[in-house]
Amino acid sequence: MTSSVGDESFIDFLERHPLTWERLLNVLPDGVAFVDDTGIIRHANAVFTTLTGYELADLVGRSIEDIVPPSARARHVEQRRRFVDGGRVRTMGRHLNLSLLRRDGSELAVDIALAPIVLGGRPWTITLVRDDSAERSASRARDEIEQRFRLAFEENMAPMAFTDLDDRCIAVNDAFCAMVGRTREELLTGDSSLFTHPEDLGITESVQQRLIAGDVERVRYIKRYVKPDGRVIVVEISKSTARDEHGGILYFVNSERDITDELELADQLAHQALHDPLTGLANRALFDDRLTQAFERVDRYGGFGAVLLIDLDDFKGINDTRGHVTGDELLSAVAGRMQSVTRASDTLCRFGGDEFLYLAEGLSSDEEAQQVAVRLLGVFDEAFAMSGTVVEQRASIGVVTFDAGKVDRETLVRDADVALYEAKRDGKNRYVVFTPTMHHRAASHFELARELRHALATDELAMHYQPIVELSTMTVVGFEALMRWRHPSRGSVSPSVFIPLAEESGLIVELGAFALREAIATAATWASHGPYLTVNLSARQFHDPDLVATIERELKSSGFAPDRLIIEVTESATLSDVAETLGVIERLTHLGIGIALDDFGTGYSSLHYLTLVHPRIIKIDQSFVSPVHDDPRTRTLLETIVTLGQKLDVEVLAEGIETDDQLEHLRRLGCDLGQGFLFSPAVSAAEVPAMAERRFGP
Ligand code: C2E
Ligand code: MG
Ligand code: MG
Repeated sequence: MTSSVGDESFIDFLERHPLTWERLLNVLPDGVAFVDDTGIIRHANAVFTTLTGYELADLVGRSIEDIVPPSARARHVEQRRRFVDGGRVRTMGRHLNLSLLRRDGSELAVDIALAPIVLGGRPWTITLVRDDSAERSASRARDEIEQRFRLAFEENMAPMAFTDLDDRCIAVNDAFCAMVGRTREELLTGDSSLFTHPEDLGITESVQQRLIAGDVERVRYIKRYVKPDGRVIVVEISKSTARDEHGGILYFVNSERDITDELELADQLAHQALHDPLTGLANRALFDDRLTQAFERVDRYGGFGAVLLIDLDDFKGINDTRGHVTGDELLSAVAGRMQSVTRASDTLCRFGGDEFLYLAEGLSSDEEAQQVAVRLLGVFDEAFAMSGTVVEQRASIGVVTFDAGKVDRETLVRDADVALYEAKRDGKNRYVVFTPTMHHRAASHFELARELRHALATDELAMHYQPIVELSTMTVVGFEALMRWRHPSRGSVSPSVFIPLAEESGLIVELGAFALREAIATAATWASHGPYLTVNLSARQFHDPDLVATIERELKSSGFAPDRLIIEVTESATLSDVAETLGVIERLTHLGIGIALDDFGTGYSSLHYLTLVHPRIIKIDQSFVSPVHDDPRTRTLLETIVTLGQKLDVEVLAEGIETDDQLEHLRRLGCDLGQGFLFSPAVSAAEVPAMAERRFGP
């Protein structure tokens, strides 16, 4: 049914009632223009004049093309003709980006709808125009935002991916592609199993469940990916959801980070904190930890464990004579060999210096602990070849076992140390299993070492001086400096007890320096041209690179003449490293300092040692002078040594003269010098001047 007004058709009605038209046109929100079949604007409403900027009178009679932007004009003529020849109602939407040319030359974004209408028998067109500029700039803004987001996604340095509920990638950025080492096509067509570590495939599922349930807005988790070359990387993922307006999940937003290097660094730091940098073995901290665990295990499940304390024999010598580089190299080699015989369940640790600890677990008998020791000692059978040199290195081991009853770390390591000490005492290159009877002996040993350290820092140590008497004149010609330790509770501790202790612990270097400093400073106060001073030096001190400089410095600062100083050396010093010791002796001799061979006759190569060192004095050990059993062979030896000295033109000194008989005998033999309780024991520095003046009878 066609619309009508009464009997009249609606169009006819409109034609006859122009006022109705006018009212209609003026309430419309859009611009309306009537254009005839030749393209001339015949009428327009107020909105249309506002949009175009023309007065109505100015508009009517103009070609519609006048308000078409020049660039679109030619096409417009063409299109308008086609429309007039049979057009239907049509709209020309936003996507065409239409605009009209305003009177002031500016262009206005518009939306246009056309409707054919026959007026006065001619095919006219009604043109409806709507201002689209607001809408269009809003859409442009939307585009821009979208563009910005796309850029933020595409160009983001952080790997990002949008994934669907099946964990397939919907979108990935370049950084993501680079991280997993795949092309965008591969990623968008495959699913995440393409690059996810097989063991981590289930992770995403559970994470997504939590997000879907809405418990959390974002989940951070860690997952491993496998790159095409097989390299595994660890990735931290921050996953959140994009939802539609009803709260349904559209996709997941994943922002990811390759944390492989970070973890590696963290690992390295952790490793560093628990390992010895030189050998790569566990350090004390890690060992302590393992030991605690081992204690827990024996406590819970029973069984045995053992701690073995391994100490390289005479390693200090290597370090001192061949340098620290070789020393370090040797330590690494030793560590490597021991590691190679370390069971997977056991722990080998560098305890410090040349000491190692071995923790053996799951043992069923003491014998097994000993087998471990034998295995460890075995690695020292072969010499160690290192850059240029071959080094024979042995070790001693202290073994202590533990079970559920005995689980105290402190005592355990100390007991191992006690056993180690026994092993060293028994001749090194062996192991000793701790027994409680060792304890008493060792406890005092450790105590003493600790206290000696303390003594050095306080004034418990002092030098005393024993006169050296010229037997022909019976006058005092020199003094031997001997160290004294006045222990606050033990009283006077003998140097024959604490000197070996200091040698073992390395404390001897400090102790020796103290002796030199103290004795030289004291002797410098003696009358010029007065008695000479002898000072004992331990073998270890010859490896002290500062030794000669220290002596020189003390002589200079005190003003004591070098030729009044005599260094006492025992045979053991020359044996530990002949070349080095002789080098030091030569430098001392060069300074004018004399050498005395101490305890002569007690070592097994005394004569050989006499050919190496050219001493000023030979000190015959007191075992020849005041023998416990007076036997003829000892007497012969004493005579021989005195004669030897005379032949070599070296002064001979008899140590430990206790009786007049001994003195007489020595004088008869022509022994030059004597020392002993018969004359005087060592006296304090204050007593020296008086002592120096004494003449001993007869
Ligand atoms: P040494 O160098 O052979 O010193 C001689 C030791 O014999 C001293 O013992 C001395 O007191 C003792 N003595 C002296 N006359 C007699 C005697 O008539 N009868 C007996 N039975 N003994 C006598 P001391 O002072 O106990 O020193 C023992 C050892 O300790 C020394 O033997 C020396 O090797 C070492 N020593 C002492 N002071 C020092 C030092 O400052 N540095 C170093 N490296 N070693 C030292
Ligand atoms: Mg001596
Ligand atoms: Mg001696």
